[in-house]
Amino acid sequence: MTIAIASPIAGWITALEDVPDPVFAQKMLGDGVAIDPTEGRVVSPGAGVIATLNPSGHAVTIDLDCGVQILIHVGIDTVALGGTGFTAHVAQGARVSAGDTLISFDMDYLARNAKSLITPILITRGGQVTARTDRLTACSETLFDVVGASSSAPRQSTDVAAVRRLRLPLKHGLHARPAARIAELARGFDADVEVHAQGGKRASALSPVAMLALTLPHGAELTIEGRGPQGEAAADAVAALIESGMGEGSPLPLAAPEPWPATEVVVERPAAPVGVLHGVMAAPGFAMASSHRLDIAPVAVETTSSLGAEAERQALDAARALVREHLTSRAGAGGAGAEIAKAHLAFLDDPALLLDAHRSIDQGGSAGQGWISASQGFMAALQAGGDRFAERIDDLRDLERQILAALRGDRLDQEVPRGAILVAREILPSQLMALGDAGVAGICTAEGGPTSHAAIIAASMGIPMLTALGRSIEAIDDGTILILDAGSGTVTVDPSAAAQEAAAKSEAEREERRRIAAGHQFEPAVTIDGKPIEVFANLGSLADAQAAVRVGAEGCGLLRTEFLFLDRASAPDEDEQCAAYQAIADALEGRPLIVRTLDIGADKPAPYLPLPPEENPALGVRGLRLGLARPDLLATQLRALIRVNAHDLKIMLPMVSSLYEVRDTHALLKREAEKLGRPMPTLGIMVETPAAALIADRFAEEVAFLSIGSNDLSQYTLAMDRGNSGTAAGLDALHPAVLRLIRATVDGANRHARWTGVCGGVAADPQAIPILVGLGVTELSVPTAAVAETKQIVRQIDMQAAMRLATQACDARDAATVRDMARTFMGGLA
Ligand code: PEP
Ligand code: MG
Repeated sequence: MTIAIASPIAGWITALEDVPDPVFAQKMLGDGVAIDPTEGRVVSPGAGVIATLNPSGHAVTIDLDCGVQILIHVGIDTVALGGTGFTAHVAQGARVSAGDTLISFDMDYLARNAKSLITPILITRGGQVTARTDRLTACSETLFDVVGASSSAPRQSTDVAAVRRLRLPLKHGLHARPAARIAELARGFDADVEVHAQGGKRASALSPVAMLALTLPHGAELTIEGRGPQGEAAADAVAALIESGMGEGSPLPLAAPEPWPATEVVVERPAAPVGVLHGVMAAPGFAMASSHRLDIAPVAVETTSSLGAEAERQALDAARALVREHLTSRAGAGGAGAEIAKAHLAFLDDPALLLDAHRSIDQGGSAGQGWISASQGFMAALQAGGDRFAERIDDLRDLERQILAALRGDRLDQEVPRGAILVAREILPSQLMALGDAGVAGICTAEGGPTSHAAIIAASMGIPMLTALGRSIEAIDDGTILILDAGSGTVTVDPSAAAQEAAAKSEAEREERRRIAAGHQFEPAVTIDGKPIEVFANLGSLADAQAAVRVGAEGCGLLRTEFLFLDRASAPDEDEQCAAYQAIADALEGRPLIVRTLDIGADKPAPYLPLPPEENPALGVRGLRLGLARPDLLATQLRALIRVNAHDLKIMLPMVSSLYEVRDTHALLKREAEKLGRPMPTLGIMVETPAAALIADRFAEEVAFLSIGSNDLSQYTLAMDRGNSGTAAGLDALHPAVLRLIRATVDGANRHARWTGVCGGVAADPQAIPILVGLGVTELSVPTAAVAETKQIVRQIDMQAAMRLATQACDARDAATVRDMARTFMGGLA
């Protein structure tokens, strides 16, 4: 397993061996590189938790979520500056994201007062480093690769052989350099050596980082405990080394000091935003309500034990018991939340996870820190398996949040006031599903993309959602009035009384439109001038199918089959698949059912299918490519579909780019249908690549229909990752380039009398509907919650006007202009 680590600092990269300090140059603290900084700022190379922050602010260690622990030590001998020239922006134990500023420093001051500015960046846990040195790096560029995981299993000796008490004579306290020397010495003995400090805090002397986390000041009282065959000799040697002062000895103060106070931390909390913020629509709708913050994880925990290992273990057990009770009742309640609760329960009682947590506690960690380091170790292992484990990683994160909440005595269920708009950095699919009946009015996230799994779930629940609003939203106080308008991609913070009145009025109008739409939900959607448009639903489960029928969906335009088998350890066999598809077909009571073959890879995980990690999974073996690479899987699914007894079942192929893919699948389908003695189901394709759109006429010769997957078509046309919040703002399916590809698809399909549908998120975007219909799309497949309103919008469209709008939109300069045009057009409706 190889993990790329981003650079926490900008500057010139040099080899560690060139650092003018043997502790670093001889890699006593760990392998890595050094950077001669060109900028006075250290950022987090990834998401993780601050394991140690030296009180003088010159060194920080981060436990990255990928399992790697990284130490950044700004300059050489900078501990002697006593904090002058440094500003810490985070606290020990805080959770950080990639790119967060951790420390800033005054380059001029350091250049004049420190021995050197050269900054070692070391891996203190996680494997070996392969790096390219002698080059410039910017912050957040890849700095080096970490290869292989290191084992840090402690020895299991129990009897205390020797105890030595002393006071710390080091004038700058126990900082990185002496900690490395102590660890190096301790490793030479067949013994476990621990450093105990006041307040029950302790750390293995084999771990420099654990010792740093004790933040021991000059004069601190210590106990060195040695265990194992050479425990006594080891305790003596470590005590002697410390007492020698290691070149930094200074007369001891008369009294042992209070624990070293942490430097004042200047946390860069974003200023609370005001006015109108711009984000990206992930689920359509409108809401005006009070805000309520929802955190994925509590921000900070006590990292080191203050109670002793036994008490910390008990605290963890008690927290697990509370969480177990809570999850068991949720698992018994049924519904989608039950499946998630079961997945969390499995992790809660996983013996390996618990063993790792106990190990961390035995090394001096708190109960919370024990669980964090164990679950983050698991997450790192899953991350190495690629995107297909994304859901399980989310489960672990959510479970971690619950355990930490239980330890702090907080509520486990993130109860939200009814009718609130949730504000979060990001939201996990499991959190969202657990909020099923909570009456959430809307969701605003700082990060995340518009087509994430959480966004798809929000759309199916009918909850308006905006993503990529930026981290400033995290500073919005609970109870602040927000106006969330997903259609215009805006959220207004603390609106004026007049704006609230206007919003209330337009919400009342929307409500009225919704009421009217619901009143006609079972009627067909026909334009003013008589053109019928089929309005279908996108489904991911039997429950979705039942709900879709209840709200007037005329069929299913996209069954995402990979969603049916998310929580599986093994691939579903033919009979299981057949039964699942049959149940959905039955629930649709004869309405058309378009089933997409497994679309696994890139953003869609399938835990049961071990795929090799790919450099660039969105451009890799995903969708139909995977099906053809694994014909056993595809043939099993095709057979299961052929066996379904349904009035109108069609098969749709995802991620198509070349004709041979369709031909090969057609041949496979024909062979299996003949073997089973059953009729050939109708075959269609999704148009998700520019290639498929541009040769749509060729595809139309081979298949019965084309359905546009605008989520992927947008990402591949605009070269913007659909899961990347950095590109989310530009990822708009109403970009004229995407619209021209939709037009090319419809033209190609029409040449052979084939119909074109849209099943991507844009089909439910009220501003897009007239444009899509004007382009000649005849089927819209939308989340269940959007069926009635989509139909109602179609009923207000005049085809001639919609065709003119579509032509103008394709000729527009950019997506924003298209949206302006669509708004004006929509204003003229009704
Ligand atoms: C799409 O890409 O637009 C689509 C409908 O498929 P998915 O979102 O499942 O990739
Ligand atoms: Mg897709």
